[in-house]
Formats: sequence, C-alpha cells, structure tokens
Amino acid sequence: MGSSFKNCPYCSSHLIKPSHTLFNYYIQCTTCQATGPKNRTLEGAILRWNNLSETVLSATLIQNNDLLTRIMKMEDTMQQLEVELHTSHLE
Ligand SMILES: [Zn+2]
Repeated sequence: MGSSFKNCPYCSSHLIKPSHTLFNYYIQCTTCQATGPKNRTLEGAILRWNNLSETVLSATLIQNNDLLTRIMKMEDTMQQLEVELHTSHLE
C-alpha cells in the first residue's frame, strides 16, 4: 500500500507520516510539525488530512488574491502620496 497523503497544506512538504495518540490517529508533517484532525481510524485520519489540505490550499488562494488586491490598492495610495509630497515640497 503506497502512501496517499497529500502534501502539507502549510509548508508543501511531502514528508508526511501517520501518528497516533492512545485513542486516535492523526497525520503529521515532519517538516513543520503541523498535525491534521484526529480520527478513530487511520483511514479516517488520512481522509481528513487530505480534505484539510484541499481546504487550506483553496483558502490560501483566496487570501492571496485578496492580499494582492490590497497591495495593489496600497501601491496606488503610495503613488498618490508621493505625488502629493512632491508637490507640497515644491511650494
Ligand atoms: Zn508542513
């Protein structure tokens, strides 16, 4: 059985290993130590890790788009400020 873990949603590492507590299984990234949701079965833990990975990835994508929009707005404002600063210096 090959591993069907998705890469870590937080650091994109593929160094993923299953781990467990006394009663639950969970998936852990050995690079950034992020852990997935706990589950009673290993299969469930893997499933939830893979789902988490998709959820976080799409959330990050949305966040990045939002961030990009805000950075672009900020750049506009900065440019405007620079112009204003420049003209006020000339007076
Ligand atoms: Zn990680």
